[in-house]
Amino acid sequence: MKFDVCIVGAGIAGATMAAELAKTGKRIAVVERNLSERDVIIGELLQPGGVLRLHEMGFSSFLENIDAQPVYGYDIILDGEEILVPYPKQKEELSGYGFRNGAFLQNIRHHSRTLENVTFIEARVTELLEEDNTVKAVRFLRKHANGEEQLQAGLTIVSDGPVSRFREKLSNPAKKVSGHFLGLLLKNCQLPHPNHGHLVMGNHPPFVIYPVTSTASRVLIDFKGEKPPKFNADFKQFLLDTFEAVMPEVVRDCFVAAVQEGHFKLFPNHRLPAAPLKKKGAVLLGDALNMRHPLTGGGMTAVFADVKNLAENLSAVTDFFDTKAVGRAVQKYYATRHLGTQTTNILADGLYGVVYNPALRRAFFEYVGRGSRYAEETMAILAGLNRDKKLLLTHFLGMARYGTAQNVKAAVKGRDGVSISIKGVRSAAKTGEQLAAGTLNLVKDAVLIITPLLLTEKPDAATRLMLKTLNRNPE
Ligand SMILES: Cc1cc2nc3c(=O)[nH]c(=O)nc-3n(C[C@H](O)[C@H](O)[C@H](O)COP(=O)(O)OP(=O)(O)OC[C@H]3O[C@@H](n4cnc5c(N)ncnc54)[C@H](O)[C@@H]3O)c2cc1C
Repeated sequence: MKFDVCIVGAGIAGATMAAELAKTGKRIAVVERNLSERDVIIGELLQPGGVLRLHEMGFSSFLENIDAQPVYGYDIILDGEEILVPYPKQKEELSGYGFRNGAFLQNIRHHSRTLENVTFIEARVTELLEEDNTVKAVRFLRKHANGEEQLQAGLTIVSDGPVSRFREKLSNPAKKVSGHFLGLLLKNCQLPHPNHGHLVMGNHPPFVIYPVTSTASRVLIDFKGEKPPKFNADFKQFLLDTFEAVMPEVVRDCFVAAVQEGHFKLFPNHRLPAAPLKKKGAVLLGDALNMRHPLTGGGMTAVFADVKNLAENLSAVTDFFDTKAVGRAVQKYYATRHLGTQTTNILADGLYGVVYNPALRRAFFEYVGRGSRYAEETMAILAGLNRDKKLLLTHFLGMARYGTAQNVKAAVKGRDGVSISIKGVRSAAKTGEQLAAGTLNLVKDAVLIITPLLLTEKPDAATRLMLKTLNRNPE
């Protein structure tokens, strides 16, 4: 069996890549270990930026006939207060979408499987086979088969997902588990704001709620730390004690019913900065290469940006067995992909840091609550519609400065709530050591959160050089 391209894993990345690359007419094999519809809690909210990428590739139909629910913005709730922030208006009427991941993925797979030049094989890939330090073939084991088979390909695209077996061969992975999401499905439940995502923060672990069908909504509750929570005898009671009272009132009964039903699903949340290695004949795509915290629902938006980028670069290759030409296309993809994904990545892990810092999450809430560009531009970045890293940085630090100013203002008000004199400000600042530490820490904490994220997204010297030759601004 000989193909131009072999795709390992038909998840969101691999199945979409097959559809996009098939447009070049090349012969593509897709090897996926399980082609039946999956029941998972991952990838159920697609941000408008991801919808736009699908639209640009001509794949808007992937969102059809799966009871997908349009999502128009977010309801952000802090300690019971709420603000409603719509996605920014675009030229085209763009919303996000909530859906069951399994149904969405089956749509993508169904499309790719009907293409003449795409062959799907239901099998587990067990090995990437190399010759002269070049990946030339893959070995795989079909379901219920006794012996392994192999197929040859000019390029192997490895998209075997978050628990990738092959990423170590193709990158320097520094994977870190930041916590786990516990997923519950609320049935026949009205949300505080229908067709909106809900981010709920306070003195409890943060959680998100969004519609996934016309009759069901997903709740994802964060459990910080490397160890997953234990589903012991007290677990249901623990969930009720910790979350029932802080659930928005209209969903409380559904939440209690979902907890009693107890179909809990747990998934680890990773942070994995992309660190690809040059390996002839192979390339990494999707969560196998790069992961960010799912709090902001940015994963699939990043995946579609990558699929588009890699397919565009590969479309210039006429012969996939020309290792040099394929290698050049792959290096261009690795060098430019951060331009499409860095803001999504930085915001995801940045906001995750913010929601666990009481002063910063209050600052974030009030900053976005100011409306106008503070809300619009922040939401455009969250939506994956604005990918300007400098703008993200401006708002991140602006939020911390605003929070600091608000704290100072609050502290220098007299007991009766009336502002006091400059003298009073000085004495408040002098005597209120706690205040001084708290307000300073707001900016310091924001910098401590965002700096490592900025550094891991920074292109290295070789990449910058390549971008220069491509005449692209590395930012
Ligand atoms: C808890 C959680 C919630 C999330 N929520 C969102 C969200 O709301 N919105 C969003 O945009 N993103 C979300 N994400 C991220 C998103 O799900 C991923 O970015 C996206 O699914 C990545 O696609 P992928 O194709 O790389 O991986 P997957 O979709 O996981 O696909 C990998 C595929 O590879 C196959 N495979 C693995 N090993 C082999 C093998 N050896 N041989 C053959 N096949 C193999 C698997 O069966 C699977 O089909 C979430 C992530 C998590 C952890």
